[in-house]
Formats: sequence, structure tokens, C-alpha cells
Amino acid sequence: MKIALFGGTFDPVHYGHLRLAEEVREALGFSTVLFMPSATPPHKAREEVTPVGVRLEMLSAAVESNPHFEVSDIEVVRQGKEGAYSYTVDTVKELMGAHSKRDGAQGLEISLIVGADSFNEITTWCDYDTLLELVSFVVVARPGYAVKKIAEVLPVELARKFWYDSSIEGYRNEAGRTVTYLGNTLLDISSTRIRELISVGASVEYLLQPEVLKFIEAEGLYIPVADAPAQ
Ligand code: ATP
Repeated sequence: MKIALFGGTFDPVHYGHLRLAEEVREALGFSTVLFMPSATPPHKAREEVTPVGVRLEMLSAAVESNPHFEVSDIEVVRQGKEGAYSYTVDTVKELMGAHSKRDGAQGLEISLIVGADSFNEITTWCDYDTLLELVSFVVVARPGYAVKKIAEVLPVELARKFWYDSSIEGYRNEAGRTVTYLGNTLLDISSTRIRELISVGASVEYLLQPEVLKFIEAEGLYIPVADAPAQ
């Protein structure tokens, strides 16, 4: 079984996320893209991340109309139990463990969708060398960020474990995992920009789905505390 896993903060989810997920799904033939909001994102310095339950609901509203998109609460549930940061490597191990318990020896092949900005910083991820043995990566382009080759991103000893495979126009390692690059549509949209626009009362129309915008308005998200409606 093959799934594409798309982790992120999704605060809020926008058309940049949704379009790239759709393009990966179509280009690589995944039946499902599993969106996975991180509970406490280790890479976000920002203190005020919207509570994960709210982000989960917002994401569910966003993917509802696409039968190939699903939302996973696995990181949220684990954080509820363990309280610590959520790391992708732990999530992947948990998903694989649950799958083999359910379906026996039949393996679960996971491909992680990541923007070039995230992949370029992979050496800051917890246990990234183990992760590269467990899952494949689909790296998508993002305006403003260089799409770097493996040798520019990984330490030499790890980069040496990969070789270029022209049949996939990407890299492969001995564990059979791949790193491939998608020539996706470039959409210069970020959650940061959307939060900034909302905080100054500017329009965010056409940057995200109407359903998500309605949700944001109903919940009063991203507006300065002084302007928020009294509860
Ligand atoms: P923020 O502005 O709060 O940092 P973000 O817009 O980068 O948020 P995240 O939820 O952090 O969104 O992103 C999840 C994943 O999606 C990351 O791998 C990121 O690189 C990728 N991504 C987000 N927006 C885009 C985009 N417009 N184009 C390509 N990749 C994107």
C-alpha cells in the first residue's frame, strides 16, 4: 500500500498546500494524500500557533470536497498522550507499526511531501538519517527557495548512499527509498502572509478556499486580540 503523507502546520491551510497535494497525487498516482497537522511544530518559533484541534477542523473543511484527501490526527493524539514535540520520524514509525499489525507483512510505503524550503533544512529534523531509510520524499518547488540537490543538502556520508536514477528523475538509496522532485505550479502563498493580511484587516480572498475563510471569520482567527469579539 502506498500513501502520500503531507505534514505541516496548516495555520491556515491555503491554495499553495492544496494545489501541490493535488499535483503530487495526480503525477505520482497516489490514491490518497493524508494531511497531517503537527501538534507542536518543532520548526516554528512562533509561540502563538492556533490550537491543533482548530487547525484540524479547518483542514477537514478544506479537504472535504476532494475524495482523495484525508486528514490524520495521529500527531495530535500522540502529543495528547506523550506531551512532547511531534517528530515526523515517530509518526512514520507509528503509522508503519499500526499498518503491519492490521495487514500483516504487507508493507506500507510512505512518501512524504515537502516543500523545497523544508527539505533544504532536513538536517535539522530529528533522526533524519533514519527517516531517509524509512520513507521516500517528494520535494515540491516553492517560490523564493532553491531546489537543492541531495549533495547540497545532506552530509557527504549520507549523500553517498544515494545515486541518481534517470527513470525516476531523482535519487534512490539502498533501502529502496527515493527523493524525487516535482515540477509543480509555483504559487507564492504562505500562511504567514495570510495571517499578516487578516491581522491588518486586508482581504485574503483567492488565497484560500471560501470554506476556510468562512471558518477563520467564524472563529475570529488571526485578528489582533484587542479587536477580537468578546466571547
Ligand atoms: P508559515 O508561513 O506559517 O511558515 P507555510 O505557508 O510555510 O506556513 P506550512 O504548513 O508550514 O505552511 O507548510 C507545510 C508544507 O507545505 C511545508 O513543507 C512547506 O514547504 C509546504 N508549502 C507551504 N506553502 C507552499 C507553497 N506555496 N508552495 C510550495 N510548498 C509550500
